[in-house]
Amino acid sequence: MDLLLHPADRAFRAEVRDFIANNLTPEMRDGQRRIIGPYPEPEPARAWQQVLAARGWAAPAWPVAHGGPGWTAIQRFIFESECALAGAPIIYPIGIRLAAPVIMKFGSAEQQERWLPRILTDADHWCQGFSEPGAGSDLASLTTRAVRDGDAYVVDGTKLWTTHAHHANWMFALVRTAQTARRQDGISFLAIPMSLPGVEVRPILSIGGDHDVNQVFLDNVRVPADCLIGQEGKGWTYAKYLLEFERGNGLFSGRLRAALKRVEDGIGVERINDAARLMIAEVTFEIDAFEMLELMTIGVLEPNAAPGPVASVLKLRASRLKQRVARLAIDLLGSEALRRDDDGLRGVLVTDYLNSRAATIFGGTSEVQLGIIARALAGI
Ligand SMILES: Cc1cc2nc3c(=O)[nH]c(=O)nc-3n(C[C@H](O)[C@H](O)[C@H](O)COP(=O)(O)OP(=O)(O)OC[C@H]3O[C@@H](n4cnc5c(N)ncnc54)[C@H](O)[C@@H]3O)c2cc1C
Repeated sequence: MDLLLHPADRAFRAEVRDFIANNLTPEMRDGQRRIIGPYPEPEPARAWQQVLAARGWAAPAWPVAHGGPGWTAIQRFIFESECALAGAPIIYPIGIRLAAPVIMKFGSAEQQERWLPRILTDADHWCQGFSEPGAGSDLASLTTRAVRDGDAYVVDGTKLWTTHAHHANWMFALVRTAQTARRQDGISFLAIPMSLPGVEVRPILSIGGDHDVNQVFLDNVRVPADCLIGQEGKGWTYAKYLLEFERGNGLFSGRLRAALKRVEDGIGVERINDAARLMIAEVTFEIDAFEMLELMTIGVLEPNAAPGPVASVLKLRASRLKQRVARLAIDLLGSEALRRDDDGLRGVLVTDYLNSRAATIFGGTSEVQLGIIARALAGI
């Protein structure tokens, strides 16, 4: 990449490296090194986010008006890659990358002031209440109801697979506010304080045995009406906008490279024979190709711009590559992967492999992404 870099970008990269060297603590790095799910635990990720927020770097893709750094696309790319390669914690995206763009585009000025600064420092930790027991890919069939009663919406229903609901103090949820001929037209976008009476969070353990996702029960929850984002009945439009950010507005190639490096470290050099080197090289080339794709697509977007349907291509590729890297660890470990008594890096790699199965499910399954690509990009 050096060959492509303008001297000003090289100077920027040196500034970022300096900043990371002076501020990333061993505890933060260890938290990321031991990550086994899509997101790190709130600590130490929050500590790193707050260090970045103090420097004005917590939200590289936000517009300057809301606290973004005003970087060019290549600066954003350099920053994300350097953070990933240095082993900095992944910034929890559900507030900063999913809720925030919707609040910026469709929320009132008062809501923007109330929520955005607290998202920037993770003072508010958000979770995403879209899926339900009968509504996943077919999200429009959701049945959680919100009925207006004076200055509140009374919410009843349940949300499923809600990542980090046990850490969150806010959830953004799709709720049904009307029964309409077209199901999508009766859906609204509501922010729900998790501390309200009637909200209950029950854990679901992952295939790796850890606790990331939950079922959330909403029983007669009175949500202040000023927590409705945008207009009643327009939630489907806002959700589609949000999903473009969920699927394709992060820069993942640096993270994939860091994950590959973790596999090499965990396996140990003694195992790196010619066959292993070939396997690692193949995955490296795929990451190189993905990096180019990222640069050509979201690498050219203005801050806070929605990527459009190409987000589905990025989601599909990134999730498959994530699984490919995790699988490589198992292929290289061979039968030793069956011994799960190792609580060192090898144990982490095995659990990460198991949990990586979910990458092609959450955020919309691969089959659903292929359907979008066929319709929106290939015109089929
Ligand atoms: C680890 C994890 C974390 C998650 N976190 C969250 C979260 O924080 N918030 C949230 O709201 N949701 C979350 N989800 C839910 C996730 O978005 C759904 O699981 C996903 O959308 C699929 O829905 P489903 O599980 O109901 O499967 P279904 O929709 O029932 O799909 C079952 C199978 O049918 C296939 N299929 C369905 N429709 C089609 C179609 N039209 N064309 C072709 N194939 C199709 C699917 O690809 C899949 O293979 C999470 C899921 C997981 C696994």
